[in-house]
Amino acid sequence: MKPDVVIVRLGELTLKGRNRHRFERRVLEQLEPLRLVYPSVRFALEFGRIHIELNEAPYEAAVECLSHIFGLASYSPAIRTELDLELIRQVALERMQELEPAEGTATFKVAAKRSNKAFAHDSKELPHLVGSHILRNTERWTVDVHHPDTTLWVDIRDKEAFVYTDTVRGSGGFPLGTNGKGLLMLSGGIDSPVAGWLAMRMGLDMEAIHFHSYPYTSERAQRKVEDLAKVLSRYSGTMKLHLVPFTDIQVKLKEEGRENLLVICMKRAMLRIAERVAAKRRAGAIITGESLGQVASQTLSSLDVIGRSVEMPVLRPLIAMDKAEIVKVAEQIKTFEISIQPYEDCCTLFHPASVTTNPSIRTVEAVERHIEGLDELIELAVQGIETKVIGWKENDEAAKYF
Ligand code: ATP
Ligand code: MG
Repeated sequence: MKPDVVIVRLGELTLKGRNRHRFERRVLEQLEPLRLVYPSVRFALEFGRIHIELNEAPYEAAVECLSHIFGLASYSPAIRTELDLELIRQVALERMQELEPAEGTATFKVAAKRSNKAFAHDSKELPHLVGSHILRNTERWTVDVHHPDTTLWVDIRDKEAFVYTDTVRGSGGFPLGTNGKGLLMLSGGIDSPVAGWLAMRMGLDMEAIHFHSYPYTSERAQRKVEDLAKVLSRYSGTMKLHLVPFTDIQVKLKEEGRENLLVICMKRAMLRIAERVAAKRRAGAIITGESLGQVASQTLSSLDVIGRSVEMPVLRPLIAMDKAEIVKVAEQIKTFEISIQPYEDCCTLFHPASVTTNPSIRTVEAVERHIEGLDELIELAVQGIETKVIGWKENDEAAKYF
């Protein structure tokens, strides 16, 4: 049976207190692309739930949209009926006939919810009334109320009833933007897109910043970053990508800095530029894909010295994940395939032979003070930023997604 409605349940945390309306509104906004492609779709808001009335839209299109919305606990494809016991029994039977095994037996139970107290049968009677009808008219279903293979839900609402058997787990987290905004330092690697996704999942709206070393890095390397931003933009509609010309700073640091502190100084310069952009874009934090111990520049003291170049909080969602866990998420969100393309980002090209794992902030600051014109170069880099808007709104690509 084709579902008529998708019952979407918001996460429990989103139901608490004054936030509920804000959270519901954000989720509704994010469902808009679905209506853009299928204008007959309707959304109905109930306490802590959103009902998507599919009309002409295929269920798969709704699923595709829901898989890119954060803050959802679960959703269920449901069949709608009038508030009439015989109709409910009929729909329930049809659904269970569809799921009936071709051979052997399977177990089920009926569970009921009744928010409409005017309905003649309560949630204790309904399972019996509906279950007996299924038993009488099928051959392979038996009842097991404790560990059933399938649970058929009957949900009696004010104006209608819903019948469903499947509950799909939602993405979790918080609706996008309900916890503020972050600026993601997006490289072409495996880690930073995952960090961005995790931060978005925790309710942070996101813009991204990428440092390129053109002509040392190719245009293809930049396209790879744009492709990654595009995957992330699926969760937000659009994503601003700030492209920073970083070559002059890198050359300067290489010429006048200290070889074993080069990576540290580069990261500090990146952060200082990111902080300026974040402040301008009203972001409250910088997000990076750093993870403890992965490389020399990610020891505890390196992260400390890098982080001290700015005042804004630097969030590192991957800090406690190992590489295998990060790769798993990258595969799941489909950034992995893009990240492993071989195009160099700026850091790999300027990688020095030796890197200190235990830098001292005093030494690093002293080295930076001796590099003439570093502040001016940072200013120039900020002025040279080119911003691209990545995502379906600009490219009118929503239709391709569903
Ligand atoms: P990734 O896989 O994200 O590139 P990594 O393990 O290769 O991370 P580094 O190259 O040391 O580690 O980078 C650490 C973090 O610094 C990255 O996760 C990213 O947030 C940021 N970063 C590095 N290079 C760039 C760049 N060219 N543009 C923007 N951010 C960058
Ligand atoms: Mg990298």
